[in-house]
Amino acid sequence: MKLYFTIITLFFLVLTSCQNENSNLQLTYLGTAGWVIKDENSKVLIDPYLSRIKLVGMSTSSKISKSAQSRDWGSDNRKKYYRDDRFEPDTTVINWMINNNVIDSSNYIFVHHTHFDHAADVPYIAKKTGARVIGTESLSNLLRAHGIPDKQIVTVRGGEDYDFEDFSVKVLPSLHSALRDKQYYSSENIPSDIKVPLQIKEYVEGGSLMFFFRFKNHKVLTMGSMNFIESEIDKLKPDILLAGSANSRKEIYRYTERLLKSTGFPEIVIPTHWDDFRVTYDAPQEKALEAKVMPFVKDVNRVSPKTKVLIPQHLVPIIIN
Ligand SMILES: [Zn+2]
Repeated sequence: MKLYFTIITLFFLVLTSCQNENSNLQLTYLGTAGWVIKDENSKVLIDPYLSRIKLVGMSTSSKISKSAQSRDWGSDNRKKYYRDDRFEPDTTVINWMINNNVIDSSNYIFVHHTHFDHAADVPYIAKKTGARVIGTESLSNLLRAHGIPDKQIVTVRGGEDYDFEDFSVKVLPSLHSALRDKQYYSSENIPSDIKVPLQIKEYVEGGSLMFFFRFKNHKVLTMGSMNFIESEIDKLKPDILLAGSANSRKEIYRYTERLLKSTGFPEIVIPTHWDDFRVTYDAPQEKALEAKVMPFVKDVNRVSPKTKVLIPQHLVPIIIN
């Protein structure tokens, strides 16, 4: 783990010394559906889930999944989590990200929905950075329960089009991935009187959103799930699409074709929410790449041959000029 972070630190040092940041948009994959997006004026965080806890079971059902039971955890000696356990952020990892300028000066955090793998680290990061957090009522309840002051909280439901100082964001109503053979459905919010820290299972969806960012030189559409409402993203024309690419996309009718067509066949597509997020940053992701990303890339190439697909690596910035 230490060696991995040393390499990444060196990478960041080289990067900051040799690039002209002024005209670039920089996107850094934090794993799961998490991103740092940065240009000359702004730095925003999206679904920053850095703890990557060793959850022994399904993320959205009470059953212990077969894959988790049979999984070889290798040398991962971290605490095992079950869905009844109360979540604790991995402050060593988060503080490292703050101290090494990965997420330090972010002014805003946007959250797609309040499952633990999107929202559980947000209270700690908001407290440490003072960033304003934009998300659903479910997220606002979580933040208030953690003592985050109201001035840091912006509650949205989808449909808002908000101007921030150096960028603007259209918030889009969306849908959660159709997990478990389409059996997944939740209309629950994290309630306002919730006791913190929450149990993993108490991080309920709280509604799903997508975000359409207009930065100075680029328009970026972000996803936190493998699903979308076609009429909401129609005619947005992002030049960069962070596309949900895990296998639950296969539940959706012509997922890739409808997604790319309705967004005007974006110039750049970057797969998101595809990695195995129950393992640490230094664990290999080849299996996830092969099983989820590569078939999706193939789909994109078929549907939109002119689109460039960029495959992200954890914590390695992608620079778009
Ligand atoms: Zn979810």
